[in-house]
Amino acid sequence: MIVALAGGVGGARLANGLAAVLPPEQLLIAVNTGDDFEHMSLTICPDIDTVTYTLAGLNDRARGWGVKDETWSFMDSVKKLGGPDWFALGDRDLAKHVLRTERLQQGESLSAITLDIARACGVAHPIVPMSDDAVRSIVITDEGEMAFQNYFVRRRCEPVFRGIRFEGADIARPSPALIAALADPQLEAVIICPSNPVLSIGPILAIPAIAKALCDCAAPCVAVSPFIGEEAVKGPAAKIMRELGIEPGAAALVSPYAGIVDGILCDLDDPAAGMTIDGVKMVATDTFMRDDAGQQRLARESIDFAVSLQRTV
Ligand code: GDP
Ligand code: CA
Repeated sequence: MIVALAGGVGGARLANGLAAVLPPEQLLIAVNTGDDFEHMSLTICPDIDTVTYTLAGLNDRARGWGVKDETWSFMDSVKKLGGPDWFALGDRDLAKHVLRTERLQQGESLSAITLDIARACGVAHPIVPMSDDAVRSIVITDEGEMAFQNYFVRRRCEPVFRGIRFEGADIARPSPALIAALADPQLEAVIICPSNPVLSIGPILAIPAIAKALCDCAAPCVAVSPFIGEEAVKGPAAKIMRELGIEPGAAALVSPYAGIVDGILCDLDDPAAGMTIDGVKMVATDTFMRDDAGQQRLARESIDFAVSLQRTV
């Protein structure tokens, strides 16, 4: 049994590799919901959707988000009617947002809705939100505080990043499935996917019960670095690190994941390759997932590396 913690694109790629090499009953994917927000009366869960579409093989690989063969009539009409067009909602995607929002309003849990949508898309592996309670990431920038999607999509991560807070995290109850899996004696390893450590994994670790369960967990934990050399494959991870005065690279993961990770799988060009930092062993491999085969290779290597480690934390 393996637990994977994932954000959006980087998380989904490794989660997809893990799902290809593990049967559904041996994998639980717990996903960030700090990016979730309410938009045009809909509750949008970008990272859950990215993971679900990727595992279903329905993701648009070229665009990097959303569903493939998408059309945009709804957005065209929103724009013509003077509505907000900074966050694109495709026609095919829209049905999911509407159904999810309606079921949330009827009092159903995000966990139940997420599992149903994943099943309906043909995904057999369990995908769960980190919490059924709302957690909302607020980015602190040189221009003041911004709701996450205002920073990420509307402002394209341009404002200088100073910090982040996770509204609701302190009182959010953790995903029951995640807590059960972390305490399961059958658990072999926890894999932190190569997601943005600050924006995507930060919210998961901000839920006190999840952080505690990860610290107390008997199984070893490995993080896969999202950095290739000193850059992120995609997105603002390296920019954010530099704005915080931290050199981008696998070593930058040691502090945010302190007390949780035993090892980090880093890229071959990473300056920390082969080092042990604060008891965390850095092992280098090709961490770029070019295709399905690359995802599966990295998934196997992450599991093998984790099970080879003694729990040190
Ligand atoms: P978001 O929620 O869509 O921003 O996605 P994540 O936080 O899950 O993923 C973003 C991170 O994924 C970025 O920092 C990328 O560097 C990383 N990433 C994307 N593709 C790859 C890959 O093939 N290999 C590695 N190591 N990281 C990747
Ligand atoms: Ca995200």
